[in-house]
Amino acid sequence: MEQEVKAFMDQVEKRNPHEVEFLQAVQEVAETLVPFISKHKIYAGKKILSRIAEPERLISFRVCWVDDAGETQINRGYRVQMNSAIGPYKGGLRFHPTVNQSVLKFLAFEQVFKNSLTTLPMGGGKGGSDFDPKGKSDDEIMRFCHAFMTELFRHIGPYTDIPAGDIGVGAREIGFLFGMYKKLRNEFTGVLTGKGLSWGGSQIRPEATGYGAVYFTESMFKVKDQTLDEKVVLISGSGNVAIYAAEKCIQLKAKVVTMSDSSGYIYDKDGLDTEKLAFIKELKNIKRGRISAYVKVYPSAVFHPEKSPWSEQCDIAFPCATQNELLEEDARELVKNGCVCVTEGANMPCSIEAVEVLQKAKVLFAPGKASNAGGVATSGLEMTQNALRYKWTRLEVDEKLQEIMRSIHASCVEYGKEDGGYVNYVKGANIAGFVKVADAVIAQGVV
Ligand code: GLU
Repeated sequence: MEQEVKAFMDQVEKRNPHEVEFLQAVQEVAETLVPFISKHKIYAGKKILSRIAEPERLISFRVCWVDDAGETQINRGYRVQMNSAIGPYKGGLRFHPTVNQSVLKFLAFEQVFKNSLTTLPMGGGKGGSDFDPKGKSDDEIMRFCHAFMTELFRHIGPYTDIPAGDIGVGAREIGFLFGMYKKLRNEFTGVLTGKGLSWGGSQIRPEATGYGAVYFTESMFKVKDQTLDEKVVLISGSGNVAIYAAEKCIQLKAKVVTMSDSSGYIYDKDGLDTEKLAFIKELKNIKRGRISAYVKVYPSAVFHPEKSPWSEQCDIAFPCATQNELLEEDARELVKNGCVCVTEGANMPCSIEAVEVLQKAKVLFAPGKASNAGGVATSGLEMTQNALRYKWTRLEVDEKLQEIMRSIHASCVEYGKEDGGYVNYVKGANIAGFVKVADAVIAQGVV
């Protein structure tokens, strides 16, 4: 079987040379799906995985805008429309200097499986720009977002492709993007998700990815008749996913001892509480400051510059920052220090080697395409509310989100349970996500 996986990957590599992140995401899926496909005659020989690994459309465009100093700036914008077999393309926009075609193709590829797992009818896509929002004024952000949308608008629509946020794209950016879309099209539709509550947004959307990751973790512990009560938790990142994963952990009485940003991590031996988290929320979302400011206000905490938190003792780790932030060595440290569960809040934060170490040690490991699907699932609920011209309450959306996360967990167990009872959530998520898309691909013929 290794030969078959290699033969498949050779093909993909030939078509996508040097796209390291994209090849990593495809490899991770191929390792469990190639054997599954060859065992199931209805899927074998139809090149379904090869078709899913080829974007249906890939748009790249120039974005010119003028900064506060009157200087002309040039960035590159993208939208990867990966797969629309089960619904319109759906996925976020990332604004970050590391954005390139490979990163967006990996994210779009993951999104196809993730969206399929949510149980909602959404295809997969992703987009963004190498624009760096760090240090930019609100006016500069607005001018960039408006310029970006003057091209993107012709490729998207509520029945075609529905972008949302990701790293560097939050409520502020979605507002500016929506404003320009509405002006250009002269129509008020649910073309973007993550909108403000007074103009078509859904309750719980900002919280959904972080909350969902914790709900998924609760389900994993439930299988072992355990709760998150008193579990020691490491979280990386301090964006939306990290903040709301921390909030839900605190509500469930777990002890969150770390958070981080690109400058390093803070360790608070007493654990975060609601007040401390409110400080981080304001620091990050309003003041747009650095995480090190935390130890000035809470001096019993320690700031570790230029490091990630994976060498600290914990029961559960939530990597919630970015791709490849938890490597093989980090995984070994976690296992050595007694960690029993790693839940990916970000997209592909663990390298393939790190996942191997964790799975070998029988650590519960939740891949992002399952455990962080709560964000896009709630985007799907936002689309439904927009289509209905209706609004659900916070409680209603939260209940639906919990139900979806439980259902994703159940699908992973169905396809991922191994002899001896260990659940391989990677295998489970890949197969469950694939089956639904593959059935639709077959039904629709070679198009
Ligand atoms: N960017 C998020 C993700 O990685 C959300 C996408 C969306 O809401 O469309 O799933």
